[in-house]
Amino acid sequence: MLKLTRPHGIVVAIDGPSGAGKSTVARLLADRLSYIQIDTGAMYRAAAFLLAEGGIELSDLAAVAAFCGDLEISFELQDGKKLVIANNKNVTDLIRTPEMSLLTSRISALKPVRSALMKAQQRMGDQGGVVLEGRDIGTVVFPDAEVKFFLSASVEERARRRYEELLAKGEAVTLEETISDVAERDRQDTERAIAPLRQADDAVLIDSSLLGIEEVVHNMFSVCQMKLSERVSQQ
Ligand code: C5P
Repeated sequence: MLKLTRPHGIVVAIDGPSGAGKSTVARLLADRLSYIQIDTGAMYRAAAFLLAEGGIELSDLAAVAAFCGDLEISFELQDGKKLVIANNKNVTDLIRTPEMSLLTSRISALKPVRSALMKAQQRMGDQGGVVLEGRDIGTVVFPDAEVKFFLSASVEERARRRYEELLAKGEAVTLEETISDVAERDRQDTERAIAPLRQADDAVLIDSSLLGIEEVVHNMFSVCQMKLSERVSQQ
């Protein structure tokens, strides 16, 4: 009999660039599977916020390492809303500004930040029953994830969606600024030396410019069900 190393289910990794719709599909897929969703981007954003708030000099890697070693980030559900709590502070809305997006992309290239958050993500997911979304989940954090997806879409389509979200929140931005921010984050995320954004060899590629959210989630759910039934038949 196969020994179950993940008693609560499989690990599902969803990687891809900013604005491809990862958070929405990860939430819907996690709900359908009754799994926990872990938004690793929110963890990097929370780290960026606290580093800035703490006035930590990013060039002082020893100080960054000491700071990140003590970081405590968790997710809490309150009245149906998912809150991001970092060092006991509710940072849910504070981490979603365009400035925080760009700062996050910068701090996420730093080794001490990545190693602290990777360990935290591995602890959260190693029992299984999780959908993790990010940039390096299928390549670095859980290279042995049972199911991996790479969700992508064109820069223009991703920027258009982000622009509409920001407008709805009352942010004063233009579409051109948003396209250039998204392109800059893509550049930082794919060109960094450590854990760059890239599709894992065994990831299923899905282009969300061509499909609706429901269709994406339906396809992902079918792949997970197939993997889960293989797992049962191996036991
Ligand atoms: O997913 P989201 O856009 O909220 O992520 C914010 C930033 O966090 C990304 O642009 C990327 O720089 C960083 N990130 C990362 N690795 C992850 C998740 C996010 O480097 N696994």
